[in-house]
Amino acid sequence: ISQESQRILSASEWITKLYHHLLRYTKDGKEGYQYFKQRGITDEVIDAFQLGFAPNIKDFTAEFLAKKGFHQQTLIKAGLLSQQEDDTAADRFRGRVIFPIRNHLGKTIAFGGRTISDQEPKYLNSPESELFQKGKILYNFDLAKKHIRKQSEVVLFEGYMDVISAFQADVKNAVATLGTSLTESQARLLRRYADTVIICYDADSAGIEAAYKAAELLQKAGCRVKIANLRENMDPDDFITQFGTKQFHDEVLKASLTFTSFYMRYLKKDFNLTLEGDRIQYIEKVLKYLARIDSSVEREYYLKEISHAYNVSMESLQQEIQVYRQKMG
Ligand code: ATP
Ligand code: MN
Ligand code: MN
Ligand code: MN
Repeated sequence: ISQESQRILSASEWITKLYHHLLRYTKDGKEGYQYFKQRGITDEVIDAFQLGFAPNIKDFTAEFLAKKGFHQQTLIKAGLLSQQEDDTAADRFRGRVIFPIRNHLGKTIAFGGRTISDQEPKYLNSPESELFQKGKILYNFDLAKKHIRKQSEVVLFEGYMDVISAFQADVKNAVATLGTSLTESQARLLRRYADTVIICYDADSAGIEAAYKAAELLQKAGCRVKIANLRENMDPDDFITQFGTKQFHDEVLKASLTFTSFYMRYLKKDFNLTLEGDRIQYIEKVLKYLARIDSSVEREYYLKEISHAYNVSMESLQQEIQVYRQKMG
């Protein structure tokens, strides 16, 4: 890597330690500490993730790092300072709690900052650079990788707090994409460490859509995919906070759906199933998908579900599916 990137790594390491120290031990960081306490995060987990707080002071970061010999230009490149309208530089993350983003070696390469006072945007990330490419990084991969390998399973989340809550609930094989859709490169990385990926995205329409896309990509990369079974409109962190560790393991992770089950539910979004015509079209669409499954036991299992739910005989479903299978050759 370039000499500039080396400097940026070094500045990032200093500032990770400073923001974390402030949050943990000083009055300047107390608001940040209280924020995580309100969200139920323990000191131990705050330390494991090196969570921090950037005081709401424009040149706090620049002054600290100037004393360590860093030039303002480097800090702007590093994304720690941002250029203001009046062309002066100010702390990008001021007044926010800080989530250091580490690469697979555990080195901080970027930051996420969350407002603690309803500012927009809710989250702010470092800009992309030679060091930090969002599509190649998975949050917490460095700590999770040995657990992922051991269990041959990984739980994939959307957000920082989901990973952190999961970690606290003893789900150590947890990683997240950072507010972008999963990329092919991330899917390949996961495949190298695990056979199975449990997708545990937010149970809102955006999350369900993203889960479907991620599942397709992961299957193409050769992963077995399961989809966590969250209650509507909750995210994993909400669930853990509200219902606790045991229920998260039992009702969300252990009860995760096969891709086929998830897909059968997912397809419903395009139909108004109170209408007869839509119901038939929906069933046809499901059958077309099920026809691609080679195991007849598996096919029959899902056909039974359709048969019960829509009061159609197994014979006619089987007949129809054979037609699709013959067409496929
Ligand atoms: P919280 O629980 O703290 O409110 P969240 O993780 O549930 O946050 P979501 O809105 O579900 O937040 O977004 C999921 C993830 O997407 C976030 O953790 C963050 O990484 C990313 N993200 C969300 N909003 C933004 C944004 N405005 N800019 C960049 N990234 C964002
Ligand atoms: Mn969301
Ligand atoms: Mn969320
Ligand atoms: Mn959340």
